[in-house]
Amino acid sequence: MDERRHALQQSLDLVRTRITSATVAAARDEEPQLIVVTKFHPAADVELLAELGVVEVGENRDQEAAAKAAEVAAAGIELNWHFIGQLQSNKAKSVAGYAYAVHSVDRLALVSALSKAVCSALSTERRTDPLGCFIQVDLDEAAVAEQRARQGSSRGGAAPDDVLEIAQAIVAAEGLDLLGVMAVAPLGADPGEAFARLAQISAAVVHEYPQATAISAGMSGDLEAAIVHGATHLRVGSDVLGPRPALR
Ligand SMILES: *Cc1c(COP(=O)(O)O)cnc(C)c1O
Repeated sequence: MDERRHALQQSLDLVRTRITSATVAAARDEEPQLIVVTKFHPAADVELLAELGVVEVGENRDQEAAAKAAEVAAAGIELNWHFIGQLQSNKAKSVAGYAYAVHSVDRLALVSALSKAVCSALSTERRTDPLGCFIQVDLDEAAVAEQRARQGSSRGGAAPDDVLEIAQAIVAAEGLDLLGVMAVAPLGADPGEAFARLAQISAAVVHEYPQATAISAGMSGDLEAAIVHGATHLRVGSDVLGPRPALR
């Protein structure tokens, strides 16, 4: 355990140093928030990360996240769980029980499901605060996005043209707070170019909803590019926790 703790400390320090350098290089005043993505890694790792000062953690599958959040909470550790994966509406109830924020809100049906689930959790004191919401944007070129949708291989995300409508629904929904936008850089594309487009979409959202300034962008491989383009939240997994097991 000491060895693992030491390894996590070192990788975390490295990532934090990268974030600081990139923030300085981009002449930004404030560092983005680091969310450590703990998917595939055990609750024991999450507890070590908490000892190392991590408060924000990310997960992309409800079943895994719910179990881990319960285990960590039972150990008396309070963390902010960020749900970052594609989310089916029928999982909204479970997610409302532990999530601090959802980064993958990408359709109106999910907005309604989350609002209903959060209101119920608030009324039964399964949670005390509204749920933070990021609208996930699909940054694939329109043709690629369409092809993916047809093949059922979409990685999620709203079409850029639908973002304002979803934002309006979140703002109108009880129990939800609109925080901003989120995206994953498309495979094989220049992440800087993708994050620049996300920044434009963010500006359009902020124009309508001045409070929704958050931009969740940047992972292990492209966090520097995300910082250049205004990311406020970084989702970093493998560069902190090590490689994930190849397949589950
Ligand atoms: C896994 C994941 C991350 C973290 O990716 P790394 O490359 O391991 O840093 C970030 N965002 C989402 C949506 C993910 O699923």
